[in-house]
Amino acid sequence: MAITSLQDKDRIFTNLYGYQSPDLKAAQARGDWDNTADLMKAGPDAIIEVVKASGLRGRGGAGFPTGMKWSFMPKEPTAGRPNFLVINADESEPGSCKDREILRHDPHKLVEGTLIAGFAMRARAAYIYVRGEYIVETEAIRRAVAEAYAAGLLGKNAAGSGWDFDLFVHRGAGAYICGEETAMLESLEGKKGMPRLKPPFPAGAGLYGCPTTVNNVESIAVVPTILRRGAPWFAGIGNPKNEGTKLFQISGHVNKPCVVEEAMSIPFRELIDKHAGGIRGGWDNLLAVIPGGSSVPLVPAHEIIDAPMDFDGMKAVGSGLGTAAIIVMDKSTDIVRAISRISYFYKHESCGQCTPCREGTGWMWRTMERLREGDGTPATIDRLYDVSKQIEGHTICALGDAAAWPIQGLIKHFRPEMERRIAERNGAMQEAAE
Ligand code: SF4
Repeated sequence: MAITSLQDKDRIFTNLYGYQSPDLKAAQARGDWDNTADLMKAGPDAIIEVVKASGLRGRGGAGFPTGMKWSFMPKEPTAGRPNFLVINADESEPGSCKDREILRHDPHKLVEGTLIAGFAMRARAAYIYVRGEYIVETEAIRRAVAEAYAAGLLGKNAAGSGWDFDLFVHRGAGAYICGEETAMLESLEGKKGMPRLKPPFPAGAGLYGCPTTVNNVESIAVVPTILRRGAPWFAGIGNPKNEGTKLFQISGHVNKPCVVEEAMSIPFRELIDKHAGGIRGGWDNLLAVIPGGSSVPLVPAHEIIDAPMDFDGMKAVGSGLGTAAIIVMDKSTDIVRAISRISYFYKHESCGQCTPCREGTGWMWRTMERLREGDGTPATIDRLYDVSKQIEGHTICALGDAAAWPIQGLIKHFRPEMERRIAERNGAMQEAAE
């Protein structure tokens, strides 16, 4: 099915670029908080069914169906074990920069969505965990929460719904790993942000040992609009199982880097030409793309150009949609150096709990640095691949995978370039010896 690009009338984030005020009055003029109590009258289970029917999949990277995730929460929380909702605004993945636009310019979409989602999950309180470096964004969301309290939209009988609901904003201290849901819960509890072993999953034992759901900012912010416009409307955008609108973040070697809301499944070429002014130097100059933030494998130009930008489309080319943080690299890129720099990031951000990640990320980075200079043999590349496979899937959290995949993608698609460097260095050394 050919996917047409998003029409203006279907845009959810109508103040994404901050052309209008983010404050409550302006948000209400844009349609936020319009009869929220009426939307909630349907009841928690009906709301979950609408979100399920809309096909919404989590926008934080994993793409798990949002409605299904909500349905894992206990239907009858007890006084000693209340349900909690936590919003993951710890946007730290290199290349990702969408949630900050929501926090800065459209915060009431998130605040209203949090109330509705919290109600659907029978939670009386929610926390928004904001990345430590997001100072302006934290101020913006705090302002929005204060406005909502002052207007009776949060607190006792929130928005006249009869549901008491409190919302707290918590700023992290700037550690990437706190974006992992269980590390986030540890951090919220005042401990060091280190991921927990799963199971138990947060829906069983999360924040303070109570049932908890952690959702991404964008996943929650789209919910009020889905309820107002109906599940079939949202499900009618994009390919089956990849429905809805999506915020794409396009950076790197394009003429106009941007964050844009588009239809899920839009072909890569159309997305770039329409919103990012095309590839720097033209399409023949495209080398490779990291389509979902730095943790997913890169895709060479010829494989991605006509691919649909959605979860399944990116899986089909051996990568992932992740947060749809698209990093474009043209032929001027030193691709081995680029991936080596990403390896350094994951080495730096490892929390150090598990040996394959703590030791392996540092080893992989050091080996990548050597290979960048051509220092090694083809067997070094094989060993690097081997080690990356031993890290993948053998750690407490997904950071191990995130460190392994970019290297695996590089070896899969650019091994000849790595071998060329080795041969070049060996040639130069032999010449010098002679
Ligand atoms: Fe920590 Fe890395 Fe283990 Fe995750 S995979 S828990 S970041 S050591």
